[in-house]
Amino acid sequence: MERTLIKDTINKIGQTVLLQGWVKTVRTHGGLIFLDLRDSTGVVQSVVNKVKNEDVFKIAKTLTPESSVEIICEVNKRPEGLDNAKMTTGGVEAEIKEIKSFVLSKTPPFPVDTEGYEINEEIRLKYRYLDIRRQRLSRNLHYRSQFINLIREYFLTHDFVEVETPYLSSPTPEGARDFLVPSRLQKGKFYALPQSPQQYKQLLMVAGLERYFQIARCFRDEDPRADRAYGEFTQLDLEMSFVQREDVMAIVEDMLIKVYKKIGAKIKEIPFPIYTYQEALKKFGSDKFDLRSEEDKKQNVQAFAWVMDFPFFEKTEEGGWTFTHNPFSAPLPEFKEQLLQKKNIAQILTSQYDLVCNGLEVGGGSIRSHEAEVLKAVFEIMGYKDEEIKAEFGHMLEAFSYGTPPHGGIAPGIDRLLSCLLKEPNLREVIAFPMSSGGKTAVMDAPAEVSQPQLNELSIMIKTGQKDQSLFESIKQLLNENKMSYDVLEHEAVYTSQEAAKVRGTKISQGAKALIMVGDKKPLMVVLPADRKVDFKKLKASCQIKDLKMASAEEVKKIAGVEIGAVPPFGNLMETPLYLDKNLAKENEIVFNAGMHTKSILMKYSDYLKAANPVLGDYTS
Ligand code: ASP
Repeated sequence: MERTLIKDTINKIGQTVLLQGWVKTVRTHGGLIFLDLRDSTGVVQSVVNKVKNEDVFKIAKTLTPESSVEIICEVNKRPEGLDNAKMTTGGVEAEIKEIKSFVLSKTPPFPVDTEGYEINEEIRLKYRYLDIRRQRLSRNLHYRSQFINLIREYFLTHDFVEVETPYLSSPTPEGARDFLVPSRLQKGKFYALPQSPQQYKQLLMVAGLERYFQIARCFRDEDPRADRAYGEFTQLDLEMSFVQREDVMAIVEDMLIKVYKKIGAKIKEIPFPIYTYQEALKKFGSDKFDLRSEEDKKQNVQAFAWVMDFPFFEKTEEGGWTFTHNPFSAPLPEFKEQLLQKKNIAQILTSQYDLVCNGLEVGGGSIRSHEAEVLKAVFEIMGYKDEEIKAEFGHMLEAFSYGTPPHGGIAPGIDRLLSCLLKEPNLREVIAFPMSSGGKTAVMDAPAEVSQPQLNELSIMIKTGQKDQSLFESIKQLLNENKMSYDVLEHEAVYTSQEAAKVRGTKISQGAKALIMVGDKKPLMVVLPADRKVDFKKLKASCQIKDLKMASAEEVKKIAGVEIGAVPPFGNLMETPLYLDKNLAKENEIVFNAGMHTKSILMKYSDYLKAANPVLGDYTS
């Protein structure tokens, strides 16, 4: 029998059909079992009657929520008054004739029929394949696919060619740190994952393709924030030859207007308003501003605007110059001479244009320097020596000497556009497998240690002590991402709570002591004020643990990755359950060793609660 999709059951009244999917819920009502069945197209209620079909009833009884099954059933119209207006299939009910389960599901670690925002994100990411079963995420991914498809369709019908550029390459500066990949064939050398396809797309212009686009993955090792995905993100990358900035802006604007219309999204103002950088600062105090009214926000209107005429350079902390947006941009034509002569550097304006939507920067681009001497002058202003320019960008300068067309492009961020469209507070909600805020991949445990033979093959030696440093960095990242303020205290090495309080100048009771324990063979973390003691009886009772003991020094090292006495109270970063004794709440500020005996973090108790998300209870005496 051919499979029927659940959304189509409403057109199959009176027919016997085959459905496949997952058990959403099973409810027994005396002699009836109601089974809500879900596939990627919807949910339908099915039922089996014990008296009519005892064998099937027995199988249905063994099913657990989230098991994968197939049923053969007769689709019936629900009797008058019993239909469910909330479900699209609420007018029908499937009477189960046969049932087969593929794989019974264990109890999922969290509910998948809620919105999911209430669930700890580390756990959601660890079980992302279950998280995506929730309707909101599955809808987001379907929407994303449709959105990208419409963008692609637009460019393919406007004479653009889609080209995939390399991931393993040499660095392209976009103002972030590079992810490096060691080379096995050329020991001691590294590839960099591209921060953007900037150089390749310009080379494609030299190559004469004239109109290029790509749904490109970019890799940037920069501090995570809610409006920025850590590690990798996707942008619509494009580049055009023989254009001025208005041409690039016009095509992107036209594409957005058409695509948004097709997906039924409303844009506030067309054509998009344009502000100079100075105007934006004066009017909104920022170059990323939100033009929406409260009513617009309610109706999910998308408010786009352009910002241009940015300064090309800004001062570095060391007193030199660096680019504000993109070193490959051309200055506005009237500043070209000053740039070549390296005069009035602070006044030089770039041809950069940024696209803003709902308060976020959703893209940026520029007309490029297509003359080698202009590009070279930009790097010289930034303090590059001749040999450095040659080594890092010599290939671009060389390419530019072969009849380079004037060109320019832009790169709107797909994840950001989608988060605005879907009103998602965090970019990770529109990405299938995003990294956690601590830089850990979803589901798979990367980054991970590699075997010694692999390291040998790459001639790489790992310095000891790096792990402690990385836990410290993860905590900082977690707090930064949540916009929490904290103090890092550096001090002599301390090994006891008393010593720690003394060198930090804090009270012992403010110390958040993190103990790694083993309960029924599984690791767990208990956090308590340093002046109290764990009460084994209370802990066992409230966590329903039979066998509870302290972890040995070796076990601590294995579980937390750091030494006993330096374990920070973030079980969530080590994937151990985290129990917090309620007595720590007496302190407004808490302090703890952050992975090292020589570094502590002092922060608000209320922030800690939010960042670590522990189970609160009474675990001490
Ligand atoms: N390469 C720039 C970026 O990724 C965008 C562009 O100028 O086209 O931010």
